Amino acid sequence: MVNPPPVYRGRLAPSPTGLLHLGHARTFWTAQERARAAGGTLLLRNDDLDAARCRPEFEAAMIADLRWFGLHWEEPMVAQSGRSALYGAAFERLRETGAIYPCSCSRKDVFAAAGAPHEAADEPLYPGTCRPENLAETERARRAAGRREEHSWRFRVPDGAPVEFRDGRFGPQRAIAGREIGDFLVWRKDGGPSYQLACVVDDAGLGITEVVRGADLLLSTFRQLLLYHALGLTPPAFYHCPLVTDDKGVRLAKRHDALALRTLREQGRTPAQLRAEW
Ligand code: GLU
Repeated sequence: MVNPPPVYRGRLAPSPTGLLHLGHARTFWTAQERARAAGGTLLLRNDDLDAARCRPEFEAAMIADLRWFGLHWEEPMVAQSGRSALYGAAFERLRETGAIYPCSCSRKDVFAAAGAPHEAADEPLYPGTCRPENLAETERARRAAGRREEHSWRFRVPDGAPVEFRDGRFGPQRAIAGREIGDFLVWRKDGGPSYQLACVVDDAGLGITEVVRGADLLLSTFRQLLLYHALGLTPPAFYHCPLVTDDKGVRLAKRHDALALRTLREQGRTPAQLRAEW
């Protein structure tokens, strides 16, 4: 017997680190339209792991702005801050299989080694400083015996291997591990999972069948596909949305207060008008 195709299950995954802007609204609207067209459901995931940047007032604004814009989700909101046991279990699995290694390089070290500007859109290739084979035997043994919190932890990418997927919007995508994406963080020294790990654990654990998000995360999708594979999980489909830019062609960020949904609403703009303009 052939299994019936899974029912479409999408998600909106904002981070309450600032006010949502028109770019978020556009991506989320696409997510909602795709869920509706497939007769599926949509859930809201609150990506609130970055304790230093997430604020309760942004969370309240996020929910109010999504509702104002006409976005609907089924089921109570899921907050990443309440799911740490699941991230910890995935971490242990990666550690047991040797997929990750402890790293003592700071973000600053990595950018400096690559000569990359600090505000680069994506992280530079990790130079491999803390890969076990580049450490002295004693240091390697010391780190292997250490506790999780003593270091941050990186996923070791299979150098030279192609990582491929078919994007629902942009078609076939391919990156070479070690060339376009390097060893990336899965756990922070401050004791939490990276965005990459938390996102994979949740998209898989919550049964998401298609991830709709901005094209700024295309490179992260390759990283996440490596994690799905290493964790023995089935990846969802992916649909990346073109990014919204301002009138100077600069990609919208949370600092673009002029295009924050809050501001537009206060100026009397309606969601229908805003949608008609994009
Ligand atoms: N919270 C992440 C962001 O806002 C979610 C990315 C994703 O959709 O995977 O960038």
